[in-house]
Amino acid sequence: MISESSLADLRARNPVSDVAGKWVSLRRGSRKGRLIGPCPLHSPDPHAKDSTAFECWGDGWVCARCQDGGDVIRLVQLRERLGFREAVDWLGGAQETDPAEDERRARAAAERKAADDAKNAAFREAERKRCWEFWQGAGPLAGTPVEAYLREIRRVDWPDGAALRAHPAMPYLEHGQDEAGRTSWRLLHEGPAMLAAIAGPDGRMAGLHITWIDLDAPKGKLALVHPTTGEKLPAKKVRGSLAGGRIELLRAASPCRLFIGEGIETVLTVFTALRAAGRCLDGTAMWTSISLGNLAGKAADHSRVPHPSERTPAGRVKQVPGPEPDMDSAAVPVPDSVMDLRLLGDGDSDPFTTRLTMARAERRHMRQGRRVATCWPPAGHDFNSMVVA
Ligand SMILES: [Zn+2]
Repeated sequence: MISESSLADLRARNPVSDVAGKWVSLRRGSRKGRLIGPCPLHSPDPHAKDSTAFECWGDGWVCARCQDGGDVIRLVQLRERLGFREAVDWLGGAQETDPAEDERRARAAAERKAADDAKNAAFREAERKRCWEFWQGAGPLAGTPVEAYLREIRRVDWPDGAALRAHPAMPYLEHGQDEAGRTSWRLLHEGPAMLAAIAGPDGRMAGLHITWIDLDAPKGKLALVHPTTGEKLPAKKVRGSLAGGRIELLRAASPCRLFIGEGIETVLTVFTALRAAGRCLDGTAMWTSISLGNLAGKAADHSRVPHPSERTPAGRVKQVPGPEPDMDSAAVPVPDSVMDLRLLGDGDSDPFTTRLTMARAERRHMRQGRRVATCWPPAGHDFNSMVVA
């Protein structure tokens, strides 16, 4: 058994950037204290200048392609195909540590964490204020390109009181750092956008979901290309914080029925269809969770399921998050008054993973006396693609 303190000591002697830096060329990332570059596990060219899949910091790493991450020991295990003990030896072996030194190190780590937390909280609060200012600079949808986008291109209507506004000239900003390590913002585009207010768990505005509109582009959404990298940029962005938040499209004070879907257009499609069918929507609320992860929350640690066909770039069976929810993770809170919860599935992403996520969402939000059901569009579709097709 190797003690936690000697493992901490081993990690401190072997920063991930030093170890990974022997295998690949890393460069400074846009987030402070982080290095990015090709991945030691999957990248064919260890010196590729444009690779951003792998990111590491003092004692951790993640790879977006491998969908893996952890500490330096895990990196060595995967790269060198070693067991845990062998990886520890590979890194120089565990050494007995001095209790006084352990305590000093634990204190320093706690102080660093407290400072980081304070800085993150200050950034979130500043971002929330900026979101509020953008929201104040936006107005009703009628007569704007946002109205044309929803009505003519997506063929949907929206409820009175929906948390949606149109901004005439919303800046599209890239968040980065200048040479001195200070936060910088670069303006990539400015134009009409649909703003949707994200209500946080406490009901206050926590952020904004933004969709830039270009009525001449396919599907009416801005097709923006990064001016230096040439990479296609998404027409939708979230600013501020999303965790545990929701966008309220159809509001009800103490709803007994609640529909939740991932996308604004999906939920508006269902709203438009139900209203056209003359269905009574009293006591019904309709929200979007912005992402399926935010609908279902994280999976419990032990809940992982092997994917039937997908493999990691290293050729191993991919493990995907399973159906057991981690109730401590953030997700959309469903009001106690809801007796009938309808989750709107999405047929256009990987069906296996999506079904697991929806099963997790059902378990998470199940209560005694509440009916929870997922509605699915036909394979390969979302609800909106059925009406615009
Ligand atoms: Zn990788």
